[in-house]
This record gives sequence, structure tokens and C-alpha cells, in this order.
Amino acid sequence: MAGFKTHITVSSVLGVGYGAAAYGYFHLPPSTCVLAAGLCGVSGMLPDLDSGPGRPLQETCMFASAAVPMLLIDHFEAWGLNREMMVIVGAAFYFLIRFGLPEVLKRLTVHRGVVHSLPTALIFGGLAFLLSSGADERLRLFKAGAVLLGFISHLILDEIWSVEFFSKHPGLKKSFGTAFKIFGKGWGPNLCNFALLGLITYTTLNEPMWLRQYCQQLPATNSRQATDESQKSQPITKSVSNWLNSWR
Ligand SMILES: [Zn+2]
Repeated sequence: MAGFKTHITVSSVLGVGYGAAAYGYFHLPPSTCVLAAGLCGVSGMLPDLDSGPGRPLQETCMFASAAVPMLLIDHFEAWGLNREMMVIVGAAFYFLIRFGLPEVLKRLTVHRGVVHSLPTALIFGGLAFLLSSGADERLRLFKAGAVLLGFISHLILDEIWSVEFFSKHPGLKKSFGTAFKIFGKGWGPNLCNFALLGLITYTTLNEPMWLRQYCQQLPATNSRQATDESQKSQPITKSVSNWLNSWR
């Protein structure tokens, strides 16, 4: 199994390449490229959230508890929350992620179970899209892609480390095939994982439209962010189609 440092190093290098390519070829904003590079780097340890009370779980939850409330600030504005409510809701997210999430993960996951799988990679990609702020869905997709890339790099590295290249008897270890997979063991965890994937996918596809409808109902005195969101947000499928057309 590839170690913590190997995962972080590879995902960080990939993240730098991802951000640099987006800046160089597609002229995306530098701050977005740097953020995407960082997200890709951190996502390289996400699959090991199932490894019990170890460093990946500790580091990821600590980072997420600080980063998620900050990423949600634009959403809070769009939802029409005042400053005090932002602090209260942000603190609630902090405590839930910092102290609640590790306990849930320790009890519900087993190492190399469904968390090490492609559907879970898509779940985290969808979550990254939902957490990302801004009216431009292309940039949100770009950041979600960074998380997906970092996550998948971990799965591939785990599989590479499952091959004995240099021993006297080269071959496959028992762990081969337990990381880069679609289904884990047992129907229960798989059912939960695919149900969660369905929920996240449905929410991701519709969230821009819901936000637009919500913003249209807000009083005109609400934040400029809300107004911007309401004017620019559109169903993600339409956004992707426009984006692809712009490259032709
Ligand atoms: Zn792993």
C-alpha cells in the first residue's frame, strides 16, 4: 500500500499540473487554479478516510473543518444569511466535521471497503461542486475535477503498490483490485454508496437551478451575490453544453 507521503506527493504534483494547464491553456483565474491545485493535493488522502483513527482521517477532517465553512461563505450570502447567522452556521459545520465526522467514519467504514471506489470518487467530486462558490458553473466543475483527479490518483497508486515488481516472485498481492473498483463487499455498503451517489448527482445537476429560483424569491435588499447568482445560474447540463460549444 502506498504511504501517506507518496499519495500526497503524487496528488500535489498532479494538482500543480492541473492548475498550471488550466491557467496556461484556458486562461482561468490564477486564484481558481491555485485553489484547484490545493484541492487536488488534499484529495489524494481522501480514500484513506476508511483507514481508522490514523493520520489521513485526522488531517483530512481538520483541514475540511476549517476549509468547508470558508468555502460556504458565498453560499451563505446567496441564502440571505446575516453575519451572525453565518458565524453560527459556520461554527456548526466546523464542529460537525471536526468531531462528528471522524466518529461516524471510524464506525461505518472498513479499510479498502466502498470508500476506495470509483462511485465514492464521484461522490466527493459532486460534494466539491456543491461546496464551490460562484455563478460560473464551469469554474465549479473545474474545482470538482481537481478533487476527482486527486481521489482517483490515490486509487491508482494503491493498485500499483499491489503489484510485486521487485520480489523474487513477481506477482499480485491479495490487495490487488480492492482500490480501483466499482463495487465493494456486501450489498449493504454498496446500496448506501450508490444511494448517496444518486442523491449527490441529482443535487449537483439541479442545485444551480434551485439557487436561481431561491434567489428570485429573495427581497431586492439581499446581497449582490444573490443577484449575480440569480442572473447567471442555469441548469448544469446547459452550462456544460455552452462550455463545450465555446471550445469548438
Ligand atoms: Zn488507500
